[in-house]
Amino acid sequence: MNPTLSQWLHTRQTAILDNWPDRNEAITGNVVIQPRLETQRLVSALIATAEGNELPLRNLFSEWIAAEADVGLPVMVRNFQNLHRTVRATLIQDTSGLTLIDDLADLFDQAIATLVEIWTEHTGQLIHEREFIAASLDAASAAADQRALQLKALNDISQRLSATLDRDTLIEIVIDSLYRLTEAHHVALWLVDDKQRIRVVASRGSDDGPPVGFILPDSNPTVQAAFHKGVFWPAISADNMQEWMIAGCGLLIIPMIGGERLIGAVTLQELHNPLDLRFMQDLAQSIASQAAIALQNAELYHAIRTLNADLEQRVIERTRELEEEKDRLATLHAIAAQVNQTLDLDQILNNSLTMLARIVQAEHASILLTEEDNPSLLVTRAILGTKVSPDNTVRFAIGQGIAGWAAQHGQTVLVPDVAEDERWATIPGSSRKREGSMIAVPLFVQGEVIGVMTLSHSQTNFFYEGHVRLLNACAGAIAIGINNANLFRMISTEAERRYELLDRQQKETSQIAAILQSLLDGVIVCDLYGGVISINPAASRILHRPLEELLLWNLRDVIQRYLGSHAPELPLDDLLRRPLSVNGEARTFTTTAIVGGKTVNFSLSPVLKENDELLGALLVLRDITREVEADRMKNEFIGTMSHELRTPMTAIKGFTQLLAMGGLGQLNDTQREFVNTIYSNTERMINLINDVLEITKIESGSIDLEWRSLHLAEALSGVIAELQPQITQHRHQLTISIPPGLPLIRADAMRLHQILYHVLLNAVKYTPAGGSISIAAREVMNIDIPEPTRSTLSENRRYLLLSISDTGVGIRPEDLPRIFDRFFRGENSLKVEAGGTGLGLSIVKPLVELLGGRIWVESTVGIGSTFSIIMPIAGEHA
Ligand code: ADP
Repeated sequence: MNPTLSQWLHTRQTAILDNWPDRNEAITGNVVIQPRLETQRLVSALIATAEGNELPLRNLFSEWIAAEADVGLPVMVRNFQNLHRTVRATLIQDTSGLTLIDDLADLFDQAIATLVEIWTEHTGQLIHEREFIAASLDAASAAADQRALQLKALNDISQRLSATLDRDTLIEIVIDSLYRLTEAHHVALWLVDDKQRIRVVASRGSDDGPPVGFILPDSNPTVQAAFHKGVFWPAISADNMQEWMIAGCGLLIIPMIGGERLIGAVTLQELHNPLDLRFMQDLAQSIASQAAIALQNAELYHAIRTLNADLEQRVIERTRELEEEKDRLATLHAIAAQVNQTLDLDQILNNSLTMLARIVQAEHASILLTEEDNPSLLVTRAILGTKVSPDNTVRFAIGQGIAGWAAQHGQTVLVPDVAEDERWATIPGSSRKREGSMIAVPLFVQGEVIGVMTLSHSQTNFFYEGHVRLLNACAGAIAIGINNANLFRMISTEAERRYELLDRQQKETSQIAAILQSLLDGVIVCDLYGGVISINPAASRILHRPLEELLLWNLRDVIQRYLGSHAPELPLDDLLRRPLSVNGEARTFTTTAIVGGKTVNFSLSPVLKENDELLGALLVLRDITREVEADRMKNEFIGTMSHELRTPMTAIKGFTQLLAMGGLGQLNDTQREFVNTIYSNTERMINLINDVLEITKIESGSIDLEWRSLHLAEALSGVIAELQPQITQHRHQLTISIPPGLPLIRADAMRLHQILYHVLLNAVKYTPAGGSISIAAREVMNIDIPEPTRSTLSENRRYLLLSISDTGVGIRPEDLPRIFDRFFRGENSLKVEAGGTGLGLSIVKPLVELLGGRIWVESTVGIGSTFSIIMPIAGEHA
């Protein structure tokens, strides 16, 4: 340590640096980036050294040498000496510094010694490093050689592995290579089998290791996991020790992964130098990986081979099926063609049987069809090679025998041995022996069994499924053929029937036309809308119109033109709407009119079919001029006769009355009695003559009506007053019920009186003494009137209904239809007592109808009768 020197150096630092000529070149060489700084650092380091701290100088030298080793020690020393000279020169300039020259020389010597020392140290280290690198290179090249050898071996293995796809060969290659290359104590190749067990498939080396076929126990999870993940155990712990592990060996387990699953593993066991296993790991791993790929390829190859073989087998089978299918289609086509050729049932059945029997080589075949009138019976319709006759025809009930079973279940039956089949039924008349095999095929049409086809052979097990398929395929075509033939036969029969029907109808039509033509009565037929569809010459003659013109008319026009205001009496629309009365009888309307000076009766009725379906309407025109004339003459004769009779009768009556009253002298009792008898009989005769005259008048239409609006109650009171003596005499109880505000009726007062008189008189006459008579009136609509009366009236008209009921003897049901006939008198206990001519009601009925009303009666013997009369209400015009 030299404080003086360090002090001096410190103070003269700048001067020294300025004086140093080489200061721009640093000590180390030519390339110094901040020479001033470096020289500064050097001077500072020297000052520290002078102060006894050599460390900065040492650091500086170490840095320089490390950075500029190539500069060489001499250059460094020379530059350092240059610095020494510069410092010394500066020191000499300083008088006070001369004493420090030696100290300075010591400092620089120390510094150079330090530089040399550091340089030597650095160089030795470098030599050592070089030696180490050389040694390392040697080692690396040896390892590379080793690797190259291994790679070559691996390459060989890889080529050998890829050269084969045989699993056993691959296993051989893998185990051989592993054992040869690793030289381990024991080597084993394990593979995962079908049941996911890990099993040794090949091993080499010590006999202590696991033999081929050994299965890895699944008792130890650690060992199991080691097979999945891989492991290196230099020494095996007691916990993991298993029987296949060789005592004292190190163990290396390398898993073989294919895709993502474990396919097996390789185990290597090494006894003497277990750590060597570590060096074998990479090689073994590579071999294992290649083995995994090769084994997987082999597996795939094997699978593809199996698949190919399978496919080939399937192609062969399918080809055979297609062959069969082709045969079937050809047969089907042939059958369909022959079935389509004819509509003759026998031909279809026989041809089909022959073809099918030939194809399936059946010895016996037949077709049974269901019977037309009994579909539960099957009957033989065709037999192979022979004609069907009563001798060889059999009948099966559906469900009976094998054929019956097939029909009942709608299923084809293949019976390999008839003798063994419980369904067999022995049918009387059948010559079939119970032997051999048989097929029964049902024949369907639209889901219904129409028959069964049976084919048999004397050998058992003769038929097979292929036959069944063929027959099933053909059954449809045959069934269609049978159906077509049946339909054809049905259609032919039906056509013949229709032809006959048509022929008959044509004959009938022409007969009807002829009848119509020759009818004297006119006939006009119209359709549902009134259009004239048929008309005969008589109609044209009666109506004085050409046929052609009338044919263009509507029946309504005919009625309107010829009947005028009487047209409503033939209500065509009403009739067409409702052709039948409530009790199912055809409604008929009749009226007369004068056409061309002739009296013509018009009669309108519906034209109905047998099932009451309406076809139209029929108008019959009858020229009744002659009948009317004859009637007129008859009435005239009766009228004249009646008048002629009435005059003397009136004289007789008058004189008898005179006699009875004693105008011509007193009469004794007997004489008076006789005279009274003459009187009453004369009166009866006069009444009779009056009634006959009345009828004649009505019938000749010579009654003049005086139409007026009348109150029914008024008319009734007149009649009751007139009959009051008889009512009182019979002690009859009379009840009258007429509601207030009853509408007026339109009628002729005198005729109405006549009507009410006759009906009320009958009630009195035919009701025993003490009985009751009730009279009631009310307003009714057409709809309230009972049939058959209602259907003879026009619709929607209002009427007044008058009911006269009594508790009299009643009318026998058989008399009811006749009581309005002339001179008819019913049988009853009061017939004699009541007296009468039987003409009263026969006058009442036409009178009521003349006034536009109707009359009808309901009666029960012993209980009483009710006469109902309806009269049109005033103001209701037809
Ligand atoms: P008649 O002069 O006999 O009364 P009608 O023509 O008046 O003749 O009547 C015909 C027949 O009808 C009668 O003979 C009778 O048998 C029957 N008749 C009429 N009205 C009644 C009645 N109210 N009760 C029972 N029978 C009757």
